[in-house]
Amino acid sequence: MNNRKVIIFSAPSGSGKSTIVGKMLEKFPQLEFSISATSRSPRGNERHGKEYYFFSAETFRKMISEEAFVEYEEVYSGSYYGTLKSELERIWAKGKTIVFDIDVKGGMNLKRIFGKDALAIFIMAPSVEELRRRLLSRGTDSPESIEKRIAKAEEENGYADRFDTVIVNDSLEKAVDETAGKIQEFLNA
Ligand code: 5GP
Repeated sequence: MNNRKVIIFSAPSGSGKSTIVGKMLEKFPQLEFSISATSRSPRGNERHGKEYYFFSAETFRKMISEEAFVEYEEVYSGSYYGTLKSELERIWAKGKTIVFDIDVKGGMNLKRIFGKDALAIFIMAPSVEELRRRLLSRGTDSPESIEKRIAKAEEENGYADRFDTVIVNDSLEKAVDETAGKIQEFLNA
């Protein structure tokens, strides 16, 4: 059995991706979340080493030059996000399957790197109006940041067909069931 499998979740923000990822981590104990590094500031109750490893942009750039990342992107202008090589080793050393919550470009890069060992899942929000409503009700982003995220979402939806599977999140319960089915299949293969 190959114990170096990875599951990649990509989606425009506000599509419900993080909720689905959280539910999969609860449901499948053999999965572990890859904690990304970022140069953005913590939101709400986020803590270093839990949701993200938080670094200054300067430290982040130093880590790029030291080749510490498998992939990284400047997802929003001025905000870097990246997957640390050390994070992959940390999780694989436990014999677990890695779960990535990553932007669409990063997801495509990881799929290219891991090939058949990766299940790449694209979560799609039902519509731009629904996406705006969700981002507003989350209440953690400024109006400017919301508009930036929506513009990006529209662009990112165009890449959905590059993923192994697309889950449309119009009903959370249905999306969770569908995703769990795909993961079960992948883990059994
Ligand atoms: P947020 O600021 O809402 O936490 O995340 C913004 C975006 O960055 C999300 O789409 C998230 O999936 C993505 N992201 C998080 N970690 C990484 C990473 O390590 N690499 C890349 N390329 N994107 C990431």
